[in-house]
Amino acid sequence: MGFTLHNVAMVITGALVGSSGAILSYIMCRAMNRSFIGVIAGGFGAAPADAAGAAKTDRPWKRGSAEDAAFILKEAGQVIIIPGYGMAVAQAQHVVREMADKLKEHGVKVKFAIHPVAGRMPGHMNVLLAEASVPYDDVFELEDINGEFAQTDVAFVIGANDVVNPAARTDRASPIYGMPVFDVQKAKTVLFVKRSMTGVGYSGVDNEVFYLDQTIMLLADAKKMVEEIVKAL
Ligand code: NDP
Repeated sequence: MGFTLHNVAMVITGALVGSSGAILSYIMCRAMNRSFIGVIAGGFGAAPADAAGAAKTDRPWKRGSAEDAAFILKEAGQVIIIPGYGMAVAQAQHVVREMADKLKEHGVKVKFAIHPVAGRMPGHMNVLLAEASVPYDDVFELEDINGEFAQTDVAFVIGANDVVNPAARTDRASPIYGMPVFDVQKAKTVLFVKRSMTGVGYSGVDNEVFYLDQTIMLLADAKKMVEEIVKAL
């Protein structure tokens, strides 16, 4: 448009927008361990027919309440909160910060773990947590915190799914294979907030973490569930 209208400002703006978009896409591809061309060509986000598929509700899993979660969280020494796309959809970031503050009052160490592609744009979670005034010192990148799950009492997964899916390490057929993920399964307890057992993440595949012995599913809208946990605390 800038060239057609002989408008230099529009040419410069267009170039800046285009190149920023390309740089963001490149950052996103690196975080997903995918080639730029492969993602542009649409090789991510649709599970192949023979992949794990949506959640198998016939497998055993445990459901917990907000009161159960509050009790477990209060007794913990360290809690790592892993936010994802669902926290953004539910706009739960403010109440999550409130929950973290309450836990700190109880002497619990609380950290936030941010995956570079959690949400739907690079930096999505950082923006939400900053908006909710979560202190920067409590926010850690993937490579800085992933080693800590083995010494963590509770991994609190809220609205995240693909970024905590161990299939990315173990299942070569999975569309997310090769993407670095959080090792939440190493924590003593995993509290997993999502709305249903059948809802899947962006990649559309099931998640082994739902069925682990130490996992408790907290099925509800993220904001509503955390509000109830805060009340129980
Ligand atoms: P996912 O998309 O993997 O999972 C989102 C989860 O949130 C689902 O399990 C969903 O389950 C749950 N959810 C949705 N709404 C709510 C709600 N209101 N309350 C509670 N839970 C909710 O999210 P992640 O952040 O883990 O991963 C991001 C994915 O997006 C990755 O695969 C990444 O590669 C991809 N991606 C990222 C981009 C980026 O730049 N950040 C860009 C493009 C793609 P349920 O429906 O059952 O509630």
